[in-house]
Amino acid sequence: MLSYWEKQSLLQYDYIIVGSGIVGLSAAIALKEKTENSRVLVLEREILPTGASTKNAGFACVGSLTEILADLQTMDTNAVVDLVKMRYEGLQLLRQRLGDAAIGYRENGSYELISSHEEWALHKMEDVNTILESFFPQKAFTVATDKLADFGFNRTAVKAVVSNTYEGELDTGKMMRALIHLALKLGVEIKTGATVSRVEDFRSSVNVIVPHHTLKEELVFTARKLIICTNAFTQSLLGMDDLTPGRGQVLITAPVPGLRFKGIYHFHEGYYYFREIDGRVLFGGGRQLDFKGETTTAFEYNDRIQHELEALLRTVILPDQPFTIEDRWTGIMAFGKTKQPVIKHYSENIVLGVRMGGMGVAIGSKVGEQLADMVKG
Ligand SMILES: Cc1cc2nc3c(=O)[nH]c(=O)nc-3n(C[C@H](O)[C@H](O)[C@H](O)COP(=O)(O)OP(=O)(O)OC[C@H]3O[C@@H](n4cnc5c(N)ncnc54)[C@H](O)[C@@H]3O)c2cc1C
Repeated sequence: MLSYWEKQSLLQYDYIIVGSGIVGLSAAIALKEKTENSRVLVLEREILPTGASTKNAGFACVGSLTEILADLQTMDTNAVVDLVKMRYEGLQLLRQRLGDAAIGYRENGSYELISSHEEWALHKMEDVNTILESFFPQKAFTVATDKLADFGFNRTAVKAVVSNTYEGELDTGKMMRALIHLALKLGVEIKTGATVSRVEDFRSSVNVIVPHHTLKEELVFTARKLIICTNAFTQSLLGMDDLTPGRGQVLITAPVPGLRFKGIYHFHEGYYYFREIDGRVLFGGGRQLDFKGETTTAFEYNDRIQHELEALLRTVILPDQPFTIEDRWTGIMAFGKTKQPVIKHYSENIVLGVRMGGMGVAIGSKVGEQLADMVKG
């Protein structure tokens, strides 16, 4: 029993977006930038965005050397270059839109740690620099092994260091606050606690159904166009081939007195990543240790991976420094057979922007822009 007023004024929009992660908010902002007077609504099922966007490591990264070399094994060169370019351009757009201060963007160096098994990659470094030179004016990758002694990592495990000129770091919490703030300032409406249970495309408009728990009935929002940005959770809303959830495990230490490094670090083809933040070490990854167990949308710890993260922290990253673990969390990403995100029409008036892999911070703004262009007609 909705009122006349509710039915007349509170349920009709030009554009509705499902999901308030980086991609959903970026799409909403892009729509308001392009169509100032349109009514734009974001529906989010939780009080805070609850997927990957508030859980990640805040690497503003375009890809490490071994990650790009691994991609070149499974994708053609142009596709690999396009993806690096998309990551770079997405980061430029994010920084330009929100401002470096607002998102805590810093460039304290970005490094990949190379083990003895990966030293062959150093011989391929110039080839990778060459394929990226069409849009990177300077070489992206250079050897920086001379810094190893200063960082204090275990020299038996880490044989070389490769630096990437085009990467930085940001504060994920500040970035999400800044995105929400900008969306609200532009006039986007965001409703939280709104789980979309169903969507229906009638060719002239779209219905977006959200159960109303108090009234025990369905709210039917309508829009001209709908954008779905539910990433790993898309399966339960629409059913989709080739979209698999992938959980990421993260831990953070208490401040480490005399911590010897700043910046962001990757190793093992990007499967492990760590960084300095507020004098602490944030360390995450290890999904490759239990791909099957981590193929889930459940926000739970994986004891095996958490133990391995702790062990690597103790033996490789901070071998000479005592530390305590202060907190842990998990986030849910979405992967597919290829690394490219899914940006496509689901039906005439419904567009999908999902499957961001481990790159959503980088590509999210650019994906939002593309989604807005696809619906604004
Ligand atoms: C541990 C970890 C580390 C990472 N590190 C990095 C990094 O350093 N750099 C980088 O570029 N990327 C990183 N990523 C990846 C990046 O965070 C993601 O690619 C990105 O956040 C995906 O954004 P999204 O908006 O597509 O999805 P999400 O952030 O998952 O947002 C989807 C939203 O949809 C909502 N939702 C779902 N179903 C419904 C429904 N039925 N109704 C309403 N709302 C719904 C969810 O609650 C959620 O808020 C990392 C991810 C993780 C988990």
